[in-house]
Amino acid sequence: MENGYVAVDTDGRVTGVAADLASLGVNVSEPCRKSNGEDVEIVDFGDRLLIPAMNDLHVHASQYRNQGIAMDLELLPWLQKYTFPEEMKYADTGYAERMYRRFVRDLWRFGTMRACVFATSHTESTRLLMHLFQEAGMGALVGKVAMNRNCPEGLSESVEEMLQGYEELIAEFNNPEALVRPIVTPRFVPSCTPEMLRACGELAAKYRLPVQSHLSENKDELALVQTLESIWYGAAYNRYGLFGQTPTVMAHCVYTRGKELRLMKRNDVMVAHCPTSNLNVASGMAPIRQFLDEGLRVGLGSDISGGHDLNIFRVMVYAIQVSKMHFLRNHARPFLTLPEVFWMATKSAGSFFGKVGSFEPGYEFDALVIDDSDLNHDHYSLLERLERYIYLGDDRQIVHRFCRGNEIIM
Ligand SMILES: [Zn+2]
Repeated sequence: MENGYVAVDTDGRVTGVAADLASLGVNVSEPCRKSNGEDVEIVDFGDRLLIPAMNDLHVHASQYRNQGIAMDLELLPWLQKYTFPEEMKYADTGYAERMYRRFVRDLWRFGTMRACVFATSHTESTRLLMHLFQEAGMGALVGKVAMNRNCPEGLSESVEEMLQGYEELIAEFNNPEALVRPIVTPRFVPSCTPEMLRACGELAAKYRLPVQSHLSENKDELALVQTLESIWYGAAYNRYGLFGQTPTVMAHCVYTRGKELRLMKRNDVMVAHCPTSNLNVASGMAPIRQFLDEGLRVGLGSDISGGHDLNIFRVMVYAIQVSKMHFLRNHARPFLTLPEVFWMATKSAGSFFGKVGSFEPGYEFDALVIDDSDLNHDHYSLLERLERYIYLGDDRQIVHRFCRGNEIIM
């Protein structure tokens, strides 16, 4: 909408969008009032773009230092050589604080106001990360990572230690209305014994907590799951109550087909599509057009540090490019378009956090104001302006950021 208005109430929820103030029940007088007499504050952003903020459905805060390095291995050796040694450093809360502060600030910088985040197995540094999100006023589902096999001693916890840590975090943070909440996070099947997976499922059920993990990312990983659990990947999560029994998001799903796809649909398990990560760790290309055709819910994830770019606008571009590579191999399905990936990053991914990602009435006002004047010198249409910002812009053009109606300033 050209020169439109978004009306937001004092709870930070959108009440309407219109081309003129009168349609929103506002008298344009001094001071401005609504028809019921309430004062109205009007903020004029001029010719800037006002869009819903970004949502990142899959990111490892604890791999922030490894961003942009270590791209020479596939998933399983990559975890052992680069990722687990880095995550072990988070036993030190001083190190965790330095890294997590940078991470939260950079999420903010790129306009991501909500994220599904993996911390590490360490309860104290996970708590610290949750406090940093609270301090910032940004939304996050933060996972203490459950793991007890095929990993170094320093990251492995017993089932009892894992439960104890979660109980502490739940006691402190589990308010369903809060912006920052725990999410049950078994790392992935190869890292968790059946007892650990069962305990995670029971924990999610007991507190009605959401679940996040990884699914069908890499062929060696699939074979390993089959060896460990004697069953296909999605079914392994499902038998422990970790596959849609509470709201669930699974990252990657590169090799999800057939039974697994149907079970995801039936259980309303959401897909976090991480195109940069899938290319960097040479995992493959997720069949996102097929998922959309089958009615799966899909959002985008940066997956730092398998993915190298925290900027979800760039991840949208990669999602389109990967989809075009699918199309070039097989013309049976069309490639993803810009409005589709924009929807994935906003309204679709936002649905995992509640009513987030749209300016429809009742949605929480998570928004970005973008000054694209440097990119808008030749009178582009609104859609072209958005497209140019997504392809060419960066954090320097984001001039205001809002989460649940509050401006977030750092
Ligand atoms: Zn991941």
